[in-house]
Amino acid sequence: MELFDFVVVGGGIAGLSAVVRLAGAGRVLCVTKESFAESNTAYAQGGIAVAMGGSEDVSLHLADTIAAGDGLVNAAAAKVLVEQGPRRVEELLGWGTEFDRAVGGELLRTREGAHSLSRILHANGDATGREIARALLKYVQGLKNVELRDWTVTVDLMVEKGRVEGVVLLDKAGTLARVGARAVMIASGGAGQVYSDTTNPAVATGDGIAMAYRAGAAVEDMEFYQFHPTAFAMDGAPRFLMSEALRGEGAVLINAAGERFMPAIHPMAELAPRDVVARAITREGLNGPVYLDMRGVTEIDLKARFPGISAFLAGYGLSLAKDLIPVRPAAHYLMGGIKTDVWGKSSLQGLYAAGEAACTGVHGANRLASNSLLEGLVFGVLAAESMVKEQGSGGKVEAAGEVVKAGGSDEGVEEWIAELRAIMWENAGLLRDSAGLKRGQARLDGMFRRMPRGVTRRQLEARNLYALAGVMVESALGREESRGAHFRSDFPEKGPIARHSVMERGRLRFE
Ligand SMILES: Cc1cc2nc3c(=O)[nH]c(=O)nc-3n(C[C@H](O)[C@H](O)[C@H](O)COP(=O)(O)OP(=O)(O)OC[C@H]3O[C@@H](n4cnc5c(N)ncnc54)[C@H](O)[C@@H]3O)c2cc1C
Repeated sequence: MELFDFVVVGGGIAGLSAVVRLAGAGRVLCVTKESFAESNTAYAQGGIAVAMGGSEDVSLHLADTIAAGDGLVNAAAAKVLVEQGPRRVEELLGWGTEFDRAVGGELLRTREGAHSLSRILHANGDATGREIARALLKYVQGLKNVELRDWTVTVDLMVEKGRVEGVVLLDKAGTLARVGARAVMIASGGAGQVYSDTTNPAVATGDGIAMAYRAGAAVEDMEFYQFHPTAFAMDGAPRFLMSEALRGEGAVLINAAGERFMPAIHPMAELAPRDVVARAITREGLNGPVYLDMRGVTEIDLKARFPGISAFLAGYGLSLAKDLIPVRPAAHYLMGGIKTDVWGKSSLQGLYAAGEAACTGVHGANRLASNSLLEGLVFGVLAAESMVKEQGSGGKVEAAGEVVKAGGSDEGVEEWIAELRAIMWENAGLLRDSAGLKRGQARLDGMFRRMPRGVTRRQLEARNLYALAGVMVESALGREESRGAHFRSDFPEKGPIARHSVMERGRLRFE
């Protein structure tokens, strides 16, 4: 069996920023399911929220984060996020990230929904994540002590007497192998693929959360999925994200009758919190298509400011300057995840988590736009710092380590996964109620018998999605209130006490 000091599952912003810290303390293995270029991080468009304008900006960033989270934000974690954010972003700049700047060299900042100031840094207009991923990867590739393995699927955690001792990997050749480590970090990102409509890439199947849950780790707030209000809505086209920054730069939403509807719903109109905008679009959508209208924004060069979005739209014969852009909500960001403290420690010894796979409670019931890249950066580093202190045995107890050939036919797996994703969209989507959630639960139960049981990437993903879907539906049923991204039409009001849901070993509790 191979031995490392540290294993990091995931090569997005959380995983790679952790690797930078870990490399100074021991041998690190970082694995990704596809190439290092494929992660939610790489698709991030709008930017990274950071309060670089001094103490007033920091306290306003904290206030905005807490307000967006609808009573459920862990204020201590949010304070760490906004206070450490500027230092971490300076580091990111030092590692070679090129954010957009004004002619004089000053960093350009934009504004997004529910931010009280313009504090979002962006790169190449609307390709912020791609630039961060490029710079981080290049920097990490130059570090000693680091092995980067792409196209390597983490199958499960190795657990010995309640402590995580390493991981089981499925390599490019289809071989299973065990790797021991003093400490393991899950930085495997979100799970948008659990829904039929999502802005997330194919790698976002929540593997790390599912394997941590299987191993006995507590997962938290899994009913809170943020639906981005404005994904491209054309039949046969992908749900490509129409960044919130479009609205930050002046785009408005109009209904089928050509009327703006957001000013009547929220004082911040189109820049209201995401859940408010997403529900409004869903309701308006019952009467016909909803459009993003940027035709009135003439003071900026839209193609230069949004090159990626403009190029995508051009492929469908549309332009931001001249056309109405059809939009509808899509699953975008998981607020819940593996329950951790601000140091990234999970409820299992030897297991750490950071980024979208983790839940520090920093986003509460609803994430503030552009806070998640910052989250990955800040908590990735903090988790790495606490892993360095971990005194684990590094899988040595299992030194024999079996190596077996994986496999199994993938026939019928895509259909099975599509069925699961449709059930989740229909029954545990933006608007939920007890009857729908129970119907979803029954339909998921009915799929169990037919669950793929082989050991291929797709079959492992199918089982992980199934595990997460079950936890999400049960948590959503248990939360008999509406808060943030979780809207129960049978309990439309917020409950009197804000509590986190925790699922552990098949049991749901609120604390
Ligand atoms: C279209 C889009 C636009 C966005 N825009 C913004 C924005 O403007 N600002 C912002 O702050 N946030 C934005 N977000 C959210 C943000 O990008 C993510 O929350 C964040 O990048 C997550 O980082 P991460 O490091 O936790 O995970 P990711 O970047 O998703 O990385 C996960 C990694 O884990 C790997 N992995 C997964 N499963 C396995 C496995 N079984 N074995 C091995 N490796 C595995 C993947 O291959 C990948 O390398 C956006 C998200 C999307 C999808």
